[in-house]
Amino acid sequence: MSKKWVFLFEEVNEVEKERGSWNAVRLLLGGKGANLAKMASLGISVPPGFTISTEACNEYYKVNEKFPEGMWDQTMVALKHIEEKTGKKVGDTVNPLLVSCRSGAAQSMPGMMDTVLNIGLNDVTAQAMIKLTNNERFVYDSYRRLVQGYACIVLGLKDEIFEKPLEEYKKEKNMKFDNELTAEDWKVMTEKFKKIVIDHGKEFPQDPIEQIRLSIHAVFASWNSDRAKVYRKKANIPDDLGTAVNIVTMVFGNMGEKDSGTGVAFTRNPSTGEKALYGEFLFNAQGEDVVAGIRNTDPIVSLETKIPEAYKKFIEESQRLEKYFTEMQDIEFTVERGVLYFLQTRDGKRTARAKVKIAVDLVEEGLITKEKAILRVSPDDVDTLLHPQFNEKSQEEARKSGKLFAKGVAASPGAAVGRIYFEADTCEKKVKEENQDVIMVRTFTKPDDVHGMLVSKGIFTNQGGATSHAAVVARQFGIPCVVGASATIIDQENKTVRVGDILLKEGDWVSVDGTTGEIFACKLETIKPDLTKQVELTKLLSWADEICAKEGMRSGENMPSKGLQVWANADYPADAKRARMFGAKGIGLCRTEHMFLGDRSLILRKFILAKEEKEKQNALAELQALQTKDFEELFVEMTGLPVIVRLIDPPLHEFLPTLTDLIEEVSTLRAKGVEDKDKENLLTNVKEMHESNPMLGLRGVRLSIVKPELVQMQITAVFEGACQAKKRGFEPIPEIMIPLVSHIAELKQIQPELEKVAAEVLKKYELDIKYKFGTMIETPRAALTGGEIAHLAEFFSFGTNDLTQMTFGYSRDDAESGFLMRYLQLGVLPENPFKSIDTDGVGKLIRMCVTEGRTQRPGMDIGICGEHGGEPRSIKFASDVGLTYVSCSPFRIPIARLSACHALLK
Ligand code: PEP
Ligand code: MG
Repeated sequence: MSKKWVFLFEEVNEVEKERGSWNAVRLLLGGKGANLAKMASLGISVPPGFTISTEACNEYYKVNEKFPEGMWDQTMVALKHIEEKTGKKVGDTVNPLLVSCRSGAAQSMPGMMDTVLNIGLNDVTAQAMIKLTNNERFVYDSYRRLVQGYACIVLGLKDEIFEKPLEEYKKEKNMKFDNELTAEDWKVMTEKFKKIVIDHGKEFPQDPIEQIRLSIHAVFASWNSDRAKVYRKKANIPDDLGTAVNIVTMVFGNMGEKDSGTGVAFTRNPSTGEKALYGEFLFNAQGEDVVAGIRNTDPIVSLETKIPEAYKKFIEESQRLEKYFTEMQDIEFTVERGVLYFLQTRDGKRTARAKVKIAVDLVEEGLITKEKAILRVSPDDVDTLLHPQFNEKSQEEARKSGKLFAKGVAASPGAAVGRIYFEADTCEKKVKEENQDVIMVRTFTKPDDVHGMLVSKGIFTNQGGATSHAAVVARQFGIPCVVGASATIIDQENKTVRVGDILLKEGDWVSVDGTTGEIFACKLETIKPDLTKQVELTKLLSWADEICAKEGMRSGENMPSKGLQVWANADYPADAKRARMFGAKGIGLCRTEHMFLGDRSLILRKFILAKEEKEKQNALAELQALQTKDFEELFVEMTGLPVIVRLIDPPLHEFLPTLTDLIEEVSTLRAKGVEDKDKENLLTNVKEMHESNPMLGLRGVRLSIVKPELVQMQITAVFEGACQAKKRGFEPIPEIMIPLVSHIAELKQIQPELEKVAAEVLKKYELDIKYKFGTMIETPRAALTGGEIAHLAEFFSFGTNDLTQMTFGYSRDDAESGFLMRYLQLGVLPENPFKSIDTDGVGKLIRMCVTEGRTQRPGMDIGICGEHGGEPRSIKFASDVGLTYVSCSPFRIPIARLSACHALLK
């Protein structure tokens, strides 16, 4: 007996039992098939049908694009079943059965694959349908759609060869919209379309079974169309999932203006997440019309007055579906002469903002757990929410000065600024070859435009509504988008778009606001958004912190008891404030050399160049006063939380002019006969301090040992600042971090000396402040001798930037802009190790060091403060290794908090 390839909707519960999970059912029947069958089993009105499995599709590709053995026979048996259920028969001259043939993969790929509608119509069954429905217009409209759809999808002809004659016909007859065409008109068009097919050397089969057979072939083939492949790559969908094929009894939304139509609705607003039905309806229309965005639609509430029974039922059933699937649903439905049918339900695509709001709301409605909500939001979503928005002031000014070009439906929020281009290929070229910021402009988008859409910063269209193709794709990928900007006149041929007197040409700048639906004919300024205003995100992240803390408690030996925390790399009080607002639990790295920038570098320069001790001391005193104030404010902002202050790290010549600049300057002066003593002196010093490999030279702890006065001054300033803050009633927790250690002897040399300075300051103020001395682990030798180093160091912080540089032997300043890119292109390395931790190499050193360190000093705090601290995969690694915290830039803190929780839950 051959394998079972075909499944009736009625069989879904058995399949679920047999396959063991709903996920397995979706993999087998595809999302559309599984959900249609589930709806039918829940007693929701679904037209009878069956599904040919994704396994059949994969087998089809294995056996040279032939139906697998037994599949066609099983299809015929299933078709018989539908005939019995509906009392209709394929090809019947009295009561013919018409079906659709719909694609549907396990993960939804909106509009990427093909669907053929109205299969079963031919010259004979059309007459039967006219008798049955008494609606000749409807029948010919459906028939011409079949010819057109079949020709394009199965026979591979172009849509334009049908659309153009239709447009010409309408023009001739002075008509604007499709719904103005009469029965006679559609009859003429049907004949015309059939002739077009023949003129192109193809054949439209009159045999309904042949129509079904070839449509199934075409749907299988559409799994491997170029656009489907591009989409899968972007959406990370594996190529071997395959599509299922659903054969479903046709119901007709084009059976009359008053009581028929077709709609698409989301159970919640996919743009904002608000709990309100959101959708569109087209009266007297069929299938793809709404999704394609080809005609402007009515809002879904218009059903309430026009077909109240169907509306009421739709509301009830759609809410039932949302509860059943515990997710916002995106539903396609049809009303045929007042009777409602559900044609599809799936988890709705939504913006990052809506994702967060819906997840939080569903927890509060008791439908899902906090853990589930957290897993439904990705670090990229949080990143999107922290993306720039337009500065309201500059936007208001642009409105006042007449720069507002057009308004449309706010389909996908966010701010985008770029140059306009009118074709998908051009958009792609401008981005890939010229690195331009691009805004795609189209009358409406189609699945073939996806490659251009995905590289664009923003999109706007002249037609279509909130569920049109452009809107759905843009929302899914977080691309700001405005659709249905109907005041615009787009001349696709000449590549211009006009509103009134304003004419924009290809390459002109615009700003698209997907939140308000506005398009501006200028470049607008953007700003970072305010996290405190994002109530749901704040709540979700606080749940993430709670879970991390709770799970952390449960972790095994050698683990800290707090769970992985997120700290911040912050150098100034303003950064610290932002970090705290974003939820940092401490400062993991304050790079004190950043406090010596700007005018202060001149004071440091005085110290570096001083010949006399007095000069040196004066410069140090000047720096100390400034640094004390800096630290005091930092401790005030971070009161009650640890602040890790790293002693000066870079080579001192970074604070002096470069050797080449100086040589040029002094030579020019000399050539002019000018003798500048200061410059000559500076040149001598810079020459003396020059190093061939400064990153491996006099920096970090080496500098502290060679020039202890500078770090002694820093320690004094830290503890003076802490005492001042304490006196003001704050709770400073200073932790001193010594950089770039590679041997315990270095710590032995400098740490006691510095501890003495700290103790003296505290004694002077008679204050008791808790503090620690720890070290960065940035060299392989330090990592290899973590046990020894932990004798003195009370905490470790992995400086993974330097540790990566030194483990690979790559100069991080040169590699990323040089050979590393080539390495990645060639696949020599799978990943940039400066971006995501190299777990096999650098990670191995980290693991060893953590184990040795905590064996020597149980429960010691250990973190990561290199750039990796804000990167989701490195955070997962940090969590697995049992680190105390990751420290990252303030703007990445929300992303890191979510990632830290994902690391525990996944
Ligand atoms: C590091 O090396 O990872 C680090 C945080 O220090 P810096 O980047 O300042 O060298
Ligand atoms: Mg470093």
